[in-house]
Amino acid sequence: MLVARAAVLSSQSPQISQAQPSQAPALTLLARDGRRTLPLTVTGDQEFVALDDLATAFQLAVREESLGAITVSSKGKTIVVQPAQALASVSGRLIALPAPLTRSGRRWLVPVEFISRALATIYDVKLDLRKPSRLLIVGDLRVPRIQLRYDAVGTSGRLTIDATPRATSTITQENDRLSVKFDADALDVPSPVLPGLGAQGLVLAVHLIDPSVLAFDVGPRFAGFKASTQTLESTLRVVIDLAALAETAPAPAPPAGRAAPDLPALGQATPPFRTLVIDPGHGGGDDTGAAGASGAKEKDLALAIARRAKAAIEGRLGIRVLLTRDDDRHVGIDERTAMANNNKADLFISLHASASPRPAAAGATIFYAAFDTGSVPASSADRVPAFNGVMREIELVPWELAQSRHLDQSTSFAELLETQLRDRIPLAGEAVASAPLRVLESANMPAVLIELGYLTNGDQETLLTGDAFANTFVQALADAVVRYRDAQAAGGAR
Ligand SMILES: [Zn+2]
Repeated sequence: MLVARAAVLSSQSPQISQAQPSQAPALTLLARDGRRTLPLTVTGDQEFVALDDLATAFQLAVREESLGAITVSSKGKTIVVQPAQALASVSGRLIALPAPLTRSGRRWLVPVEFISRALATIYDVKLDLRKPSRLLIVGDLRVPRIQLRYDAVGTSGRLTIDATPRATSTITQENDRLSVKFDADALDVPSPVLPGLGAQGLVLAVHLIDPSVLAFDVGPRFAGFKASTQTLESTLRVVIDLAALAETAPAPAPPAGRAAPDLPALGQATPPFRTLVIDPGHGGGDDTGAAGASGAKEKDLALAIARRAKAAIEGRLGIRVLLTRDDDRHVGIDERTAMANNNKADLFISLHASASPRPAAAGATIFYAAFDTGSVPASSADRVPAFNGVMREIELVPWELAQSRHLDQSTSFAELLETQLRDRIPLAGEAVASAPLRVLESANMPAVLIELGYLTNGDQETLLTGDAFANTFVQALADAVVRYRDAQAAGGAR
């Protein structure tokens, strides 16, 4: 794409008789081959553009004729303007201009309306001057006008984006940014100011990051979004409902010197909790996991509970919940954590059920990862002993040890969950334990694995596969996630 620099203004200091002209925000000229800026000057209320800048931008021939007339020609068609006259003449037809042709130093200035009223009548390509948005569209480009609105809806928020004429769009979220990409060559966004934005901490700012992409910076309370479209005559409306994190802990006092609270903070001390990944263990083909005497399979139990947990937690907390599988599919151990890592999950929960040769074995256990202490680097670039006892420099935390940095929080969550589960479902004697579990080791976020109980115990099998157990467990899990998230927001779990 060609991005031309603004034409250089005359180096001559302007000599004007009347009011002193000043620089006005430039026009952006959008064309098929790119965009460039067209400088404007303003005198009083009137904006002017220099004829030589227009000549460069549109390959016009500008000549001073005898008797003081100026001609502006394009491909054999000519406009005639006279100094001090607020008129232009095209093939003998007079066109009114809001201000006369003016001289500034060596340059001739015409009112910016000259473009739409005179130049557009002789130019062989369509010219669409959109003064309020300072756009000049050259040719048949799709440049919908965009109207933005933000409304608070209780604790949630709603963004309304109208595109006229209709332009479809796709919405994607990447980290702290929600991008709306329009099927258009460029966007006409008259005002970048969106009243009310930022007040709820859901969306902090909006930018045009690309000619056809609007990006919304999401704030610390943003939990997720849902978009829908409506057609209103020539307008296509996109409504983006923004979910807010449910209960919030009291905000920590802003450190001295920080910007006013209603301004977007540049960095959050604690990243907000947005994404939970639930991993239903096993799945696909022969990987049934543990099996009960009455035929219950671990893989089915894990999936059923995971689905309920997703619905309950998304509905109640507005947190995005992703499942590593949502059907009876084979998913490799590493794929499971990779999904959580790639989605920057804030918490990873793997669901399983146990089998034991001891028929009476019963109760749930929450595991966090265990590491061979010698192999856990305290931080990158620490010197740690390798297994062979030789000191070596570790520059990066090995992938399979990603979990080592999150062990404290994994343990905190395991304990919070145990508190919520106690007295609600049967727990094993040692309800919180550590184990070297591969599915946890490469999780680059706090992570636990829950063994819901023992399918090999007939009573447990009946209990675990019943509705009451699923409801109670999911309720307790949601409670634990709320408490964990709030503790984290308050800095307690960091
Ligand atoms: Zn299992």
